[in-house]
Amino acid sequence: MKIGVVGSGFVGATAAYAMVMRGVGREIVLVDRDEKRARAEADDILHAIPFAHPMQVYAGGYEALQGSRVVIMAAGVNQKPGETRLQLLERNAAVFNDVIPQIIANAPDAVIVVATNPVDVMTHLTARIAAGHGWHKSRVLGSGTTLDTARFRSLLGRHIGIDSQHVHAYVVGEHGDSEVLTWSLVSIGGIPLDDFIQQRHIELSAAHRAEIDQNVRRAAYHIIEGKKATYYGIGSALARITDVILRDQSAILTVCAPADEVAGVTDVTVALPYLVSGEGVVERLPLPISAPERRKLADSAGIVKEAISSLG
Ligand code: ADP
Repeated sequence: MKIGVVGSGFVGATAAYAMVMRGVGREIVLVDRDEKRARAEADDILHAIPFAHPMQVYAGGYEALQGSRVVIMAAGVNQKPGETRLQLLERNAAVFNDVIPQIIANAPDAVIVVATNPVDVMTHLTARIAAGHGWHKSRVLGSGTTLDTARFRSLLGRHIGIDSQHVHAYVVGEHGDSEVLTWSLVSIGGIPLDDFIQQRHIELSAAHRAEIDQNVRRAAYHIIEGKKATYYGIGSALARITDVILRDQSAILTVCAPADEVAGVTDVTVALPYLVSGEGVVERLPLPISAPERRKLADSAGIVKEAISSLG
């Protein structure tokens, strides 16, 4: 099973490393406009293989993507001093207009998983380019709030003293400031959160909830403040998404995918609980959230829609 990673910077290379550590796939090819960097990252990761899982890792051009089942799109440019978000968006859109057709031409059977930020907008753009080449829309998705959902589960799990694997909770909407923690849907071992904390005499006040909310929503800011970039978390999330696709797992993930309508906002891409399998996104699951959460989701989708529209 072959995986392509386009853009072998911090995020792309860490995703490849996480795949080697987890034993996801059998072959990983790194593609980057900076060929020297791609080769160096491939060599470095290759040296981890004797301590992990047997795999092939190498660098190559776009033609080396042939036969990939999944291609991670992590290429992009960073914000220059004084540059606005829109200017950055336009430069990243230019990268995508150049790169995505090359992925499509060389990996016609792949599912493309977008990681470049702003991930919702870049996924929408990728889906639009792919549709122009006759691709089914299920085969483009973005990492969305997969990582934010994991953060929500682990912080809540820690507070209530339950392993996060048994905490069902989702973060939906934009991967960013306006994302929505769907408290109304949370269940622990099948028991609604409010019943669970009542039965076990756990204190989960509004202040506790607000603190968890902030720690999920602001996590990236704190990390960037301390180390200028985030990559271990997102790299691991990308390895998990790739594994789900390669194993055709039918997992429920809060990836982002183009939707006709989200909370009244049309033709937009934000994260929602989606059923993900070998063909990519196969189904959007119902989201019976509270009315206030739905209003927040509408605001969040509106913010993403505005950014999409600003690109023209
Ligand atoms: P991040 O932290 O998001 O991974 P980086 O700057 O470390 O950011 O990585 C982005 C990578 O994308 C860089 O290695 C860069 O060379 C690559 N890249 C940028 N533009 C292109 C392009 N047009 N084609 C291929 N790779 C690109």
